[in-house]
Amino acid sequence: MTDDLGQLYQEVILEHSKAPRNYRKPESANREAEGYNPLCGDRCTVFLDVEGDAIKDIGFQGSGCAISRASASMMTQSVKGKTKAEAARLFEEFHRLVTGDEKAIASAQDLGKLAVFAGVSKFPARVKCATLAWHTLQSALENKHEPVSTEE
Ligand code: ZN
Repeated sequence: MTDDLGQLYQEVILEHSKAPRNYRKPESANREAEGYNPLCGDRCTVFLDVEGDAIKDIGFQGSGCAISRASASMMTQSVKGKTKAEAARLFEEFHRLVTGDEKAIASAQDLGKLAVFAGVSKFPARVKCATLAWHTLQSALENKHEPVSTEE
């Protein structure tokens, strides 16, 4: 990772954690799931408006560290308007990126803005902060009613 990306990482995380996007419950929401990361105390609820195979709208609410908030904010931006399969593929790529998969880091530009989360791979304890919103999204898509915990 270059220093430029490191600096961008910090700026983006700060900016999104201060002003998270889609921080709301959409009126049309027809699915929701709760996530909890006991290691850090991050909590997140993801709301979805799913129609057929498409994520028409998405929002989240919760409390937690800057990384968990920024990740949730950027996750909502990334999957809005996507199909379930596209969202699942993004999560897979994102997960590989934050866990330090060299190939995923090399092709991180495919992830767009999410690429800044490559910085998380240097701090293994924060990986669960970064993936909480994604796990919660997956649970909402699968329509699970049990709260999801990163400690399973
Ligand atoms: Zn956290």
